[in-house]
Amino acid sequence: MIPYENSYKTPTVLIVDDVPANLDVLVENLQQENIELVVALSGEEGYRLANEIKPDLILLDIMMPGVDGYETCRRLKATRETTDIPVVFLTAKDNERDIEQGLCLGAVDYISKPFSMPILKARLRNHLALKHKSNLLVQLACTDELTRVANRRHFDYVIERELSRAQRNQTDLSVIMIDVDHFKLFNDHYGHPEGDRCLKQVSRALSSVLHRPADLLARYGGEEFIVLLPETDADGAADIAEKLRQAVFSLSIPHQNSDSDDRVTISLGVATCRPKESQIVEDLLESADKALYQAKTHGRNRFTAACHSTHHN
Ligand code: GH3
Ligand code: MG
Ligand code: MG
Repeated sequence: MIPYENSYKTPTVLIVDDVPANLDVLVENLQQENIELVVALSGEEGYRLANEIKPDLILLDIMMPGVDGYETCRRLKATRETTDIPVVFLTAKDNERDIEQGLCLGAVDYISKPFSMPILKARLRNHLALKHKSNLLVQLACTDELTRVANRRHFDYVIERELSRAQRNQTDLSVIMIDVDHFKLFNDHYGHPEGDRCLKQVSRALSSVLHRPADLLARYGGEEFIVLLPETDADGAADIAEKLRQAVFSLSIPHQNSDSDDRVTISLGVATCRPKESQIVEDLLESADKALYQAKTHGRNRFTAACHSTHHN
């Protein structure tokens, strides 16, 4: 067992078949399983629904008018959002070549009709159990153990993607680098376990400020956090930075050696990549880091915005 709290959600299975009678049989028989079922009557609808609801598994017919099952599978595997969803073909096509083609497209299993319902159920259960474990591993790989916010690995992955997207769509992208003030002195005075508790509280306060689904808070280093704000200009980011500062200040965690009010505070550095500026991630982060340094030297418990970002052509 992976020692990781994760509430087990009822898995969702998407069934794609152009024949309503086939869907009825499956829905009737799978209803007793602990599965949420969604059906689609064509490859196009299946692909659209897969992107929308992100099922845990797709049961896919091959012979369908329009986009057939092979092509649907090809599209699902070529799309980032759906590539990791296990696909099980359930089809009347049963020769060796067909099965090989289905599995080579990335399907995890291939079941030929006529099929045994108990065996189909058993296979689905096994594939869903594997999918659940794989979800847990992905979650573990992306999460900081102490604070449970995203880790640096995940942040590095997301910022590359978001910066490309911002440049493609000509939108602003902001980052806020955050560092807890005088944290060494905090640890020295209150002890390391209390320091850990403080970091947990700080991360919770920071995440309470962020509301948009695309906003991302990550633990960047020991007592450093970073916030990614897609589609957010310099003014918007400054607004968030001030709210983040206030959120931590309002925690009122006692800190004897603080510069401000004997409590734990943070300093923040804001940097924004504007549309039409082609920038690389490293330069954007360096701007935020320099701004953070300014905030530190100007007295901490404040944010500073990078006045101008570096140009790269
Ligand atoms: P400044 O205001 O300039 O940022 O000073 P600082 O003391 O916060 O900065 P410094 O980089 O000197 O010290 C950071 C401290 O953070 C030192 C380290 O022991 C502590 N720290 C880093 N990671 C953790 C952690 O996971 N838990 C605890 N309790 N402390 C940590
Ligand atoms: Mg630091
Ligand atoms: Mg610090």
